[in-house]
Amino acid sequence: MPQTMLPQLESHWMPFTANREFKRAPRLLVSAAGMHYTAADGRRILDGTAGLWCVNAGHASEPIVRAIADAAARLDYAPGFQMGHPGSFELASRLTTILPGDLDRVFFTNSGSEAVDTALKIALAYFQARGKPARARFVGRERAYHGVGFGGISVGGLANNRKAFAAQLLPLVDHLPHTHDLAHQAFAHGQPAWGAERADALEAIVAQRGAETIAAVIVEPVAGSTGVLVPPRGYLERLRALCDQHGILLIFDEVITGFGRLGAPFAAQAMGVIPDMIACAKGITNGAVPMGAVAVRRGIYDAVVETAPGGIELFHGYTYSGHPLATAAGLATLDVYRTDGLFDRAKALAPLWEEAVHSLRGLPHVVDLRNLGLMAAIELEPRAGQAGARAYDLFVDCFNRGALVRAAGETVCLSPPLIVEPRQIDELFGVVRAGLKQLA
Ligand code: PLP
Repeated sequence: MPQTMLPQLESHWMPFTANREFKRAPRLLVSAAGMHYTAADGRRILDGTAGLWCVNAGHASEPIVRAIADAAARLDYAPGFQMGHPGSFELASRLTTILPGDLDRVFFTNSGSEAVDTALKIALAYFQARGKPARARFVGRERAYHGVGFGGISVGGLANNRKAFAAQLLPLVDHLPHTHDLAHQAFAHGQPAWGAERADALEAIVAQRGAETIAAVIVEPVAGSTGVLVPPRGYLERLRALCDQHGILLIFDEVITGFGRLGAPFAAQAMGVIPDMIACAKGITNGAVPMGAVAVRRGIYDAVVETAPGGIELFHGYTYSGHPLATAAGLATLDVYRTDGLFDRAKALAPLWEEAVHSLRGLPHVVDLRNLGLMAAIELEPRAGQAGARAYDLFVDCFNRGALVRAAGETVCLSPPLIVEPRQIDELFGVVRAGLKQLA
């Protein structure tokens, strides 16, 4: 697209963006196919981030595109309150075939943020229904990202996302410490050996607050947006055991880790730890139509729904919960994941990915490299007095060199579509290596 044909940029207040810098030097994407975007200047950009951790089956997957187009022509919208359409029931049933344990009841939302807030509300409704309304506290974790709803930022642990809104966060929230410690974990391959005991902080919270006041613990199995913090070996198992011991629900926020990122349908299966609820989004429709979901254990649904006196059991839902275009995209996406074996493909590629990640060791400013499944982070030494500037510069430089990576604080994160070819892994890390070599 010639510079003269660029749209007027001023009116759109962009999300999580340095608006003024962006509008001075915009990075616009105009089309996408497979592993590549096309930028407005015509350049092909290798997608090293699956869009925003969501396009797991690659861009413009033909069956998904067709399913959305057909759905739009057939049933553009159907109300979801006291009404329904077949697609949302089909998708919920299909999801249960890849969900772990007895998580076989699914509530649809439109985003990860809404999935998180929905999961928190379901936890409260569950304890209300069981006659334990005092169980109303939540436990989140430092450096967690759970979206941008008031629930999500309250249990989340990213200071920048909270500071302007601190006056109105949820009142009954405690935070576990995060699990990241460079002194013990730097350059660990996969799950670090050190740090499982960080889960024991839950004991201290229980001792202080009383288990009978705590509804749920929510964690990302692998913290993504804060820079791919891989859980120490044994950490999630310990959290699960402590939650069981104290009757606390364990919620996994699998908005990033769901749908194959770790070489299994969900992190729950990849890590062998089954939570009571899973919040997911992104890869559920391959990013093609906004959608999120909360999957809950049968007993949670039964407690809220089956034991209710009659009428509406949960006063919660969205105009677009289970939207026909999203459910069509979701069903087609699950088909593609299965027929193309993409979760197994991610698992098979993980060792090669790990090798490529750790080949960056020793390059300028690199203080840590982390990986799990097809996720990775390159942590950079901060530039004095300029938080995050080095990672941002590397992101811009990689974009100019033809690869999309994601800057998050002092880290650059990588999470390619699961269709990535080994030669494209080489290409991606070649771009990052070249960028690192000349990074100030
Ligand atoms: N939870 C996690 C773990 C996420 O990574 C994200 C987004 O990246 C969200 C929640 C929020 O999802 P959304 O941006 O769809 O609201």
